[in-house]
Amino acid sequence: MQNAVELHNLNCTFTSGSFQLRAVDNVNLSIAPGEFFSLLGPSGSGKTTCLRLIGGFEQPTSGVIKLFDTDASRLPPFEREVNTVFQDYALFPHMTVRDNVGYALMVRGVSRAERVRRSDEMLETVKLGGYGSRKPSQLSGGQRQRVALARALINKPRILLLDEPLGALDLKLREEMQIELKGLQRQLGITFIFVTHDQSEALSMSDRVAVFNHGRIEQLGTPRDLYDAPRTEFVARFVGSANVISGETLHLESKRQYALRPEKVGISSASSTSPSSGISSLTGQLQDIHFLGSQTRYEVLVGGERVTAITSGAESCEIGSSVTLTWPADAPRLLEVQM
Ligand code: ATP
Repeated sequence: MQNAVELHNLNCTFTSGSFQLRAVDNVNLSIAPGEFFSLLGPSGSGKTTCLRLIGGFEQPTSGVIKLFDTDASRLPPFEREVNTVFQDYALFPHMTVRDNVGYALMVRGVSRAERVRRSDEMLETVKLGGYGSRKPSQLSGGQRQRVALARALINKPRILLLDEPLGALDLKLREEMQIELKGLQRQLGITFIFVTHDQSEALSMSDRVAVFNHGRIEQLGTPRDLYDAPRTEFVARFVGSANVISGETLHLESKRQYALRPEKVGISSASSTSPSSGISSLTGQLQDIHFLGSQTRYEVLVGGERVTAITSGAESCEIGSSVTLTWPADAPRLLEVQM
């Protein structure tokens, strides 16, 4: 099957004076048509540069970018079947919403009547029918975001690049827009490539996620793969929360580290537990309890290491007392040794 995007040994190095920074470091990936693909990573990990390389706003130092089997590495942005939604929306303040949305059609010489028809249709798609005559300043943040989306989609790009598009919205609106964006992507069948540093956003919306660290892809997989089987300590800690525990403490392979998700760990007062097959257990001392509403978090000291357990019920354990922690024997994930 033809891929929407292929990156082959992609590098992008920035030079300032005698200092060289490899912002994108030998990245290889393929994105299928119609996929919702996220680039996830902390600030400075290279995800925006990678997106800008796909959009043509940055030139690779080496490597190849293919869009639908065509080498696009040296094509200017307007010759790629790609459009971009920027975090700050970049709307024209003096133009109406309708003219903002129809701007690309105007540049291409499409007639006014046709522009109005297609802009209004696109505004309906993003649930802003009837807002065409307003100015951007007369809209809320979420509505401005939708105008930016409509403007990027009016050219019917085959790939839409989204650079932290929900970053400026408050949490509730952000969650609503996540659901709408995903719905829109399904409805239109366009490939979405989404940059975010918010792991819950990436997990909830994406078909697959590439986790970036220092310009490299540290792991690429479905949200469930990344959550259930993180390969490195960085991914275990960045995607969800994780206990990273030594093999010595867990009585597993020594000199190695394991990731254990807090919600896999059960807790009970030490005396009440009897061993059962397929379940591992350790005793420790309860250090702290945090009530989180629907869940409770327990901090336990086990052999000098701090282990967090998160349960949905409340256990009758007292701070300072001895407790037993239990988890399915196959829950700890062996982590790769980091060079
Ligand atoms: P953020 O979430 O903060 O946007 P990011 O993961 O998207 O971070 P990039 O914006 O891709 O990271 O930046 C990667 C590295 O490249 C950073 O160290 C950044 O300072 C550097 N960088 C990005 N653009 C340039 C540029 N035009 N010139 C020099 N250095 C740059």
